[in-house]
Amino acid sequence: MKQAIKKVVPFNLGVKLRGAYQKVLGIAYSGQKYYCPFCENTFRKLLTGGEDHPVVAEKNIVGAGRRPNMVCPRCYSTDRDRLVYLYLKSSGFFNHPAKVLHIAPEGSLKHLLETKENLDYTTGDKFEEGYTDYYYDRDVLQMDVTKIPFANDSFDLLICNHVLEHIEDDRLAMNEIHRVLKPGGQAILQVPVSRSLEKTEETKLDNPQDREKHYGQHDHVRVYAEDYKDRLSEEGFTVEVRNAVKENWVPDLEKYAVNPEENIYIAKK
Ligand SMILES: [Zn+2]
Repeated sequence: MKQAIKKVVPFNLGVKLRGAYQKVLGIAYSGQKYYCPFCENTFRKLLTGGEDHPVVAEKNIVGAGRRPNMVCPRCYSTDRDRLVYLYLKSSGFFNHPAKVLHIAPEGSLKHLLETKENLDYTTGDKFEEGYTDYYYDRDVLQMDVTKIPFANDSFDLLICNHVLEHIEDDRLAMNEIHRVLKPGGQAILQVPVSRSLEKTEETKLDNPQDREKHYGQHDHVRVYAEDYKDRLSEEGFTVEVRNAVKENWVPDLEKYAVNPEENIYIAKK
């Protein structure tokens, strides 16, 4: 149904209609318990989101699955976007000039970062099926993360969230990310991570139902385990695994409705 609507409604009108719907939703959910740093509204609760598959609980996959208070009713920011925002804010990133590449840009984060005058900000995506139409703004460049069209040592920060679990040759993507980062630059590379598996599982599964069953989403090609950080190290990064709750990044963290279990993977060149 959604796809059918998208086919007949022109892009600009579609964006306007969605905006009007979100405004109404934002009012319906208004309250004091939660705060969205992107649209700067407060809510009594947020929307439930994510896909519900048994494998998420079976393999204790953090950063996946259906969860309450995931999506902002007003701007559709997710718990993942808010976590990245908190990391950037607490690390003082908004105070210094920086060149940024954001791959598969989340709308809420993109709209915030492009307003920051200290940032030289570029976005790109491969536009795979299911991630087109209103999913991305029209100014996002066509880009393959395994073949990034920029020179070596170009960026201070690269953001690539929940992408590597979709990429067959994730090591090639890691290599490319490393190549385009400046020495001393960093990449935020979030993926879903199993807390119960000892090693990343990535037997090739051609059938979307099998991938959903074993990896938690029809288009995921693996499920990472704690050895994810070793894989990043093997491709040349120095890896920091950070946690907002343990490190108490901001006061009143609960109001941002982030997943306290979700670590941030910072890969430094
Ligand atoms: Zn919001």
